[in-house]
Amino acid sequence: MPLTRAEATARAATVEVRSYEVHLDVTASGDTFESRTVVRFGARVGASTFLEFEPSSVGSITLNGASVDPSAADGRRLALAGLAEDNELVVAATMRYSNDGEGLHKYTDPGDGNVYLYQHLFINNGGRVLPCFDQPDLKASWQVSVTAPADWKVATNGALVSQAGGEWRFAPTKPISTYLATVFAGPFHALTDEHDGIPLALYARASLAEQLDQQAGELFTITKQCLDRFHEMFDIRYPFGHYQQAFAPEFNFGAMEYPGLVIFRDEMLYRGAVTDSQRESRANVIAHEMAHMWFGDLVTMAWWDDLWLNESFAEYLGTRVAAEATSFKGTWTTFAMQRKAWGLRADQHPSTHPVAPSEVGDTDQALLNFDGISYAKGAATLKQLVAFVGDEAFLAGLNDHFAAHSYANATLADLLRALTKASGRDLAAWAEVWLRQPQVNTLRLTRSPASVQQSAPASFPTLRPHKIGIGLFDRAPDGTMVRRTSLLVDVDAAETTPVDADLSADLVLLNDGDLTYAKIRLDETSAAAVPTVLPLISDSLARAVLWASTLDAVVDGERAVAELVTLVLTALPVESEVVIIEDVLRATRSLVDRYSTPETRPAALELVAQAADRLIAVSEPGGSRRLAAARGFIGATTDVARLRGWLAGEGVPDGLAVDADLRWLILYRLVVLGAAGTAEIDEEYARDRSATGEQWAARSRAAVPTADAKAAAWQRIVTEVKLSNRLVEMTASGFWHLEQIELTAPYVARYFAEMPDMMRIRSGMSAEKTAGYAYPELAVSAETRRLAAELLGREDLDPILRRVVQDADDDMRRALDARF
Ligand SMILES: [Zn+2]
Repeated sequence: MPLTRAEATARAATVEVRSYEVHLDVTASGDTFESRTVVRFGARVGASTFLEFEPSSVGSITLNGASVDPSAADGRRLALAGLAEDNELVVAATMRYSNDGEGLHKYTDPGDGNVYLYQHLFINNGGRVLPCFDQPDLKASWQVSVTAPADWKVATNGALVSQAGGEWRFAPTKPISTYLATVFAGPFHALTDEHDGIPLALYARASLAEQLDQQAGELFTITKQCLDRFHEMFDIRYPFGHYQQAFAPEFNFGAMEYPGLVIFRDEMLYRGAVTDSQRESRANVIAHEMAHMWFGDLVTMAWWDDLWLNESFAEYLGTRVAAEATSFKGTWTTFAMQRKAWGLRADQHPSTHPVAPSEVGDTDQALLNFDGISYAKGAATLKQLVAFVGDEAFLAGLNDHFAAHSYANATLADLLRALTKASGRDLAAWAEVWLRQPQVNTLRLTRSPASVQQSAPASFPTLRPHKIGIGLFDRAPDGTMVRRTSLLVDVDAAETTPVDADLSADLVLLNDGDLTYAKIRLDETSAAAVPTVLPLISDSLARAVLWASTLDAVVDGERAVAELVTLVLTALPVESEVVIIEDVLRATRSLVDRYSTPETRPAALELVAQAADRLIAVSEPGGSRRLAAARGFIGATTDVARLRGWLAGEGVPDGLAVDADLRWLILYRLVVLGAAGTAEIDEEYARDRSATGEQWAARSRAAVPTADAKAAAWQRIVTEVKLSNRLVEMTASGFWHLEQIELTAPYVARYFAEMPDMMRIRSGMSAEKTAGYAYPELAVSAETRRLAAELLGREDLDPILRRVVQDADDDMRRALDARF
C-alpha cells in the first residue's frame, strides 16, 4: 500500500525528525536480520502519527521510556499516540531480506558463493529495514552501525569511525531524506584515491576484482573531472564528505545517488569488450549521480510531484558535464538520438503527464513517473530553458536555489523564483506551457513560402515558444555536406516566418543543434535528399537529428518501414558514430518486428542483417563500430552456420573478441532460431558461472522453442517468488520472439488473465518491469488489443499494471495502423 500525498502532508505538519540511530546485525544466515533503531523526533504535544514498519517479528517497542504494545505495528505501519514535544522511539525487530532490489537486498554470487547486501529504501520501502518516517521532506541525520561477518567490509553514507572484528561504526550524516540512506556490505574488493581533499573509493564484488582494478583508472579520472566541473559551476562544494562508488548486483536502476555512496548496477563494470558508447554512457551516469548530490540530495523535492527537480536536472547536468569535463564529448548526440526518443514515446502515450505535475497522489503514481518524461523530456526542456534565458542566468539561478534550500526541500515555485530573479525574465508563462502541460509539439518546415509550422495534438492543444536552429547545408566541391549557416529562430506561434527567408539549400535541417524538444518534420525536398546527404554530413549531432526524425516518422506511420530499411542499408555502413549505429540497428529491428507483416518481414530482416554485415566488413578491426555491427548482425541474421562458426572460433571478423558476453549473445540467437537448446545453455553456464552467466542462462532458457520450456519459463514469470528481480526480468525478456509466435500464441491470452496475480506477488519496480517485459508486444493483432481493452475495463486493476498495458496497447495501435 503506497503512502499518499495527503498522509505525507499531514505527517510533516505533525512531526519534525531529528535523527536515526540504526544498528543492523547481519551475522545470522537465513532469510532475516536484526534491526535496532532509535528515532528522535519533535511533535505537537498529544498528537498521533505513524512510521513505515514491516517487521518479520517485533522484539520490543519503547516510546519515551514506556513500552508500546507490539500490536501497534500492523505489519505495514507502526502507530504512535500521545506524543511529547521531544520523543525517543526505540524499536528492536527481526526483518526480512529482500530479493527484489528493494529493502535490504541479499545476493549470493553464483561463482564463489559470497553473500552481498545493499539497502535500497526508495520509493517507500524504508519500513522493510527499520521503522522510519519515509517521505522526502522529513530529513534527518543517520548514524549507522553494523555487526557483520568478520571477513566482510561495510560502507554507508557516513564516514567510518571505527571497525573492530565484525563491528562497524559510522559517523552521523548531514540531514538526508530516508530514501537516500544506504548500506553496502559483503566481502567486496575496495580501491581508494583522493581528489581535492575528497576521499574517493570504488567497491565491487570480489569476483569482479580484476575488472575493477582494470577500470579504476578510467572511473577515478571521470569522477575527478566531473567533481572539478561541478565545483566550477556551483558555489557550494560537494557537501557529503567522501565520494564512494559501489557496483552492486541486481540493482533496479542504472545507479542511485545515495549521498557519499553512489551505487551502480554491476553490469556497468565491464567484463568483456564494450563499445565507446557504452563507456560514454557510464561516464554520463557517473556525472548524473554526482549532479544529484546537489539536485536531490542537498536540495530535495518536497514531494514526488517535483521528481523532475531531481531527474531532469541530473539528466541535463550529467549529459552536459560529461561532454564538458570528460573525454566523452558526444553525450549530446546520444541524447538527441536515444534519450529524446524515450521521452517522445512516453509523452505520446495515454499515460503522459507534465514534466512537473501539480499533484502526484501517492508513491505508486510517483514510481510510474520515473519515465522518459521526467528524465529526457525534462532535460530537453532545461536545454531549451538555457537557450531561452542564457547560461549565466541559469547557473546564477541554480546557485541561489542551493543557497536558499541546503539540507532542506524545495518546489517548482522555489526554483522559478530563483531563475526569475537571476534572469530578470518572468518565467511563469514559459513554465506553464513547458512544465505544466503534457505532450509534444510537431514542427514542420516549408521552403516557399519559408515558414515553420507548429502544431499540437487535439487532446493537448498547447503551443510553446521554441528557440531553434535552422541549418542550411550545401554540397561542397569535395562531395561533403557543409553547413553554410545556422539561423536562430524564435518559433512561438502556429506559423512563424524566419527572418532570413531564403531557404535554398540542398538540405534544410530544422532543429539544427537540437535545442528544442519537438517532433521534427523536414520539408519534402530535404526529406527526399536524406538518403544521399545523410552519410556526407560530418556533424554527428546533425546526423542524429536526421536519424531521429526519420525513425519517428516511421513510428507514426508517415513513412514505410521498408523505406527505413533501405536507408539503413545505404547510410549505416558509412556511419562513424557508434551510438547512432547501435540505436538505428535496435530501433529498426524493433520496427521491422512490429510494423512489417509476416509476408514482408523476413526480407526486411535479411536487409538489416546485410546492413550490419556490410558495416562489419568496412569497420576497423577491434573497434567499437565492428563490435556494434557484429551485435546487430547476430540479432538479425538467420545464418546458423556462420553463428556456429563464430562460437567455434571460425570465420570470426578480425579483432572481434568472441568473449563470454558475445558467446552468450550468439548462443541466445541460436536458441531463438531453434539451433541450440538446454544442453548448450547448461554447457555455456558451466563455462561462465558468474552473475552475468546466470542471467544469460535464465534468459536463454526462456527462449528455448519447445512447449515445455515455454511452460516452465511462464511459470517462473507469474508465480516464482524465490527468483530474484533480475532473474525474473531476464526470464520475461527472453520469452517472446517472432520466430516462435505460433508456439507462444496461447500465452497472449494468459498474459491478460494472469498478470493481475503476478502483480500481487511482486513489489514496485520488479512488478512493473516484469509486466513490461512479459507483454506480448510482438503479437500485433486486433485480438491482442481486444484482450487488452477487456483487462483495462476491470475496475480493480493494479494501477501499475494498468499503465503498462495502456501504453503497450497504444504502441500496438500505432503498429497496426501503420502496417505495411
Ligand atoms: Zn537520477
